[in-house]
Amino acid sequence: MGADSAHSEESGTRALLCEMLRLFYDKGWVSGTGGGICASLTEGRLLVAPTGVHKERVEPADLFLIDPGTGDVIGSAADAALRPSECTPIFSAIVRAGAGAVVHSHALSAVLAGDAAKGSVLTIESLEMLKGLPEVSNTDVHFVPVIENAEHEPELTSDVERALSEERFSSARAIVVRDHGAYIWGRDIWEAKKHTEVYHFLFEATVARRH
Ligand SMILES: [Zn+2]
Repeated sequence: MGADSAHSEESGTRALLCEMLRLFYDKGWVSGTGGGICASLTEGRLLVAPTGVHKERVEPADLFLIDPGTGDVIGSAADAALRPSECTPIFSAIVRAGAGAVVHSHALSAVLAGDAAKGSVLTIESLEMLKGLPEVSNTDVHFVPVIENAEHEPELTSDVERALSEERFSSARAIVVRDHGAYIWGRDIWEAKKHTEVYHFLFEATVARRH
């Protein structure tokens, strides 16, 4: 990729990530300054939203460039007061496992889905919306890993890596963090958006049907 097209890819991705944060904020998925998003660029660098800010107001220049191999910041936000997302080590781990974009949701439905899980597995079944996941049909029983929360988000990284490596979760594109939210991913921003919408529907339906 030439310098000009790499530059336009980066500026387009920055704008798209900010648009996604506004859409997800309106859904209540990244409210109270919680949650986050990242997407990788063609040459491997990762664009990551800042932490502790109103997600619906994030601007393209507020995003950080990260090396997902090391988690190191290789390009800071224009505003020196900003810090990269607390999720950066987790985003990096999910990208190293093959994702191109990851959404971190603080939705109530994700928290309640954690309550609906048996131990470390959330079971989702008998829903047409399951077809919105790659190679999953509406007759499949779909297993989503649930990991325990920690005081500091980076402490979740090893549990995330373990869940990503488990064969029984090979069709999952989400990890629920109990009492906290979920990480949801896809091969690019658009697939991550689709899976984020699909999983929030699946979480809400699974929780509502318990009663
Ligand atoms: Zn969080």
